[in-house]
Amino acid sequence: MSDDLQCPECNKNMSKIVYGYPSEAVVHVVEEKGWILGGCTPSPIKFYCKDCKVSWSDDLGFDS
Ligand SMILES: [Zn+2]
Repeated sequence: MSDDLQCPECNKNMSKIVYGYPSEAVVHVVEEKGWILGGCTPSPIKFYCKDCKVSWSDDLGFDS
């Protein structure tokens, strides 16, 4: 099972945004996978496409 999710716009893998205080292990995974640290305050935005520069929430709706 993969956490990777493809962008509905360009079909490339999106970056997952990880919230909460990042432990050393989490930072390692985030860097390895090219994910993004979203900070300590959770938000509905869970994914980001670096190519389209668009954020997506869990249900893949645009963040408007
Ligand atoms: Zn995209």
